[in-house]
Amino acid sequence: MDVSIVIPLINEDESLPELCSWIEDVVTRNQLSYEVILVDDGSTDNSWDFIERKHAENDRFKGIKFQRNYGKSAALNEGFKAAQGDVIITMDADMQDSPDEIPELRRMIVDDGYDMVSGWKKKRYDNTLSKNLPSKLFNAVARRSSGIQLHDFNCGLKSYRRKVVNSIEVYGEMHRYIPILAKWSGFRRIGEKVVEHRPRKYGVTKFGWSRFINGFLDLATIMFLGKFGKRPMQFFGLLGTLFFLLGFGSSIYLVIAKFVSTDFTLTNRPSFYIAMATMVIGMQLFLTGFLAELIARNAPERNSYLIEKKTGLG
Ligand code: UDP
Ligand code: MG
Repeated sequence: MDVSIVIPLINEDESLPELCSWIEDVVTRNQLSYEVILVDDGSTDNSWDFIERKHAENDRFKGIKFQRNYGKSAALNEGFKAAQGDVIITMDADMQDSPDEIPELRRMIVDDGYDMVSGWKKKRYDNTLSKNLPSKLFNAVARRSSGIQLHDFNCGLKSYRRKVVNSIEVYGEMHRYIPILAKWSGFRRIGEKVVEHRPRKYGVTKFGWSRFINGFLDLATIMFLGKFGKRPMQFFGLLGTLFFLLGFGSSIYLVIAKFVSTDFTLTNRPSFYIAMATMVIGMQLFLTGFLAELIARNAPERNSYLIEKKTGLG
């Protein structure tokens, strides 16, 4: 199968009919064999009824319905698991992403050899204050911390080589950082394509202000797991040792200072308490490192590595 189109959605019954016919039109014109996986992330409107009707009419449209709302990342993850195509394309259901981009996004994977291609909403039709500015900041932080030169990490419109979606796990708010997950899994050929963005025609945005906090926390998680997920002690141990030595060094100095000079006693100097606290923090970090190491060593995937190729072995 040439292409699987994965669409996470919640309460988008107004957009779905138009979106589905448009996709059908594009893939038929380009003679692509395809499937469309609509993941209903707990809609309370008629989205699911439409999906069932659509499937009855054209069985290349398939649906998954969550019992409740789990979030866009969960929906994408489930869609990825079900997808059968050689190339997987994700897009939003609200018709802000244009299905006309599908053939080119697929071509960049198949012909240009990219592992994943991310859309870039260069001209964006969203509210400047609540969307465009914060998103510029987000992208700058993500670019700096990951070293991936993308302008628009969170664009809903992306294409992937099949191997990539099989290797990554998306949960929480991590759909914002899929390029980083891909890079950590060793897929370095990440491309970018300027895509057409359109104003939301129906319905309202499904993300509130909480996305700022959750988005940043998940970035921290991704950066930590990617770097130290399999060796947490090297992170906590280093920090713990630094803190402990700092506290220990200052305590020694304070004790010596007490005997050398009679100007002050040990306990009425604020620096004494700071030194004590620093030692305790250092020890805590060290212990956290041991605990994290225990957990990492017991994780079922502790010895699972992504193997790119083998020769001479089954
Ligand atoms: N979405 C989802 N689950 C959620 C929130 C959003 O599946 O919990 C879907 C939504 O239906 C849409 C896509 O994710 O297809 C992007 O959402 P939206 O357009 O509201 O985000 P925005 O474009 O405002 O960033
Ligand atoms: Mg949208």
